[in-house]
Amino acid sequence: MIPVAERSGHCEIRAGCRVRKIETGNGDLVTGAFYFDPRGKEVKQRARAVVVCANGAETPRLLLMSKSNRFPQGLGNSNGLVGRYFMVIQA
Ligand SMILES: Cc1cc2nc3c(=O)[nH]c(=O)nc-3n(C[C@H](O)[C@H](O)[C@H](O)COP(=O)(O)OP(=O)(O)OC[C@H]3O[C@@H](n4cnc5c(N)ncnc54)[C@H](O)[C@@H]3O)c2cc1C
Repeated sequence: MIPVAERSGHCEIRAGCRVRKIETGNGDLVTGAFYFDPRGKEVKQRARAVVVCANGAETPRLLLMSKSNRFPQGLGNSNGLVGRYFMVIQA
């Protein structure tokens, strides 16, 4: 799907970058993300929407790292449950 998405002209892959925080403005909506590029330089990327898809451990970690005055417990965590009760089920 990635080559298809790139051909659309609406997708650019920035490999080797690590998001450290999703930014929210003064309101409830996200405004972008801060990430480290492969050289360790911090970059601020503005965005109207952020899709968090960093798998089972990194997704809650990123939400918890995205604290702000408006969201002191991190994003999507008004009940304090993000990152709790994680289970690994082995067949
Ligand atoms: C050993 C093993 C075997 C599996 N076999 C199968 C199988 O046979 N069939 C099947 O259907 N599923 C299988 N799975 C499960 C499947 O791999 C996952 O369900 C699937 O990859 C999840 O896709 P995803 O896009 O949600 O997450 P991922 O594929 O894990 O992608 C998450 C991405 O987020 C990136 N990321 C994490 N944190 C950050 C950050 N802070 N900033 C930027 N990027 C970040 C990671 O580098 C990664 O590239 C297997 C998993 C494992 C571990």
